[in-house]
This record gives sequence, structure tokens and C-alpha cells, in this order.
Amino acid sequence: MHEWSIADAVIRTVEQWAEGRGRVKRIVIGVPSISFLDTDILTQAFDELKVGTSLRDANLQVKIKEQTFTCQLCGRRFTLKDVEDQVGEVRSEFGEEYPLHLIPTLSPSFIKCPSCGSRDVMVDNQDVTVEEVIMDETS
Ligand SMILES: [Zn+2]
Repeated sequence: MHEWSIADAVIRTVEQWAEGRGRVKRIVIGVPSISFLDTDILTQAFDELKVGTSLRDANLQVKIKEQTFTCQLCGRRFTLKDVEDQVGEVRSEFGEEYPLHLIPTLSPSFIKCPSCGSRDVMVDNQDVTVEEVIMDETS
């Protein structure tokens, strides 16, 4: 249950940050688009774990961050959108059922750098991040 430990970490981080600053109304977190995380479970976990904490009135908003890749040869950074045609080829080869979220593991063999064509492409590590904390101004 990865989602629960993330929700727990978010609560701990924001609680610490918000201490003495007032009441938190909303927390926006950024989740990598290809992260195997179920955002519904994440929100559910947050709603259950916030009970009894200073964040009990806060809502969690999940923003999906686009996965990026870096070419090891020329240093170009790109997203899946930049290699959409390549992804399309993979799709047509494996059928529409081919799950996009498997691409990171397969990317070295499937994705080429859009600048130099190298296959020495690395999937960037993206963590779940707290993007924004919105305070309740009325309290
Ligand atoms: Zn390159």
C-alpha cells in the first residue's frame, strides 16, 4: 500500500510546516504520471489519516506531473509527448492494450532521443512533491 505511506508522509510534512501558521485548507501534491499510484486511494488514505491531526479540515488535490526523460548522450530532456510518434509505433506493434505505464521500464529499447536519436535514454526520477499549501484565511 504505497499510497498510504505517501499520504502519511504528506501529512507529516505539511503538519510540521503549518505548525503555528494557521489552518490548512488545501494541499496540492504533484504525482508523476507514470508512478503506479492510484490517486483515488491516495485521496482516500489522506482523508482517513488526517482525522485527529491538525490537517483534519484540509483537502488533498492531486496534480499529475508529466514524466520526463533525459538523453545520456546529448543531455536533451523530453517528455512522452515529444516522442508520441514512437510511442504510437510501440502501441501499434503491441496493440492498443499495451499499457503506457510499462514504457519507463522498456524505454531504453523503445524510446529514442528526439534530438540525436540515441537510445541511451534515462527515465527521470520523479518524486511525489508537495506543490502548494493553501491556508484557511478565515480562521
Ligand atoms: Zn540525444
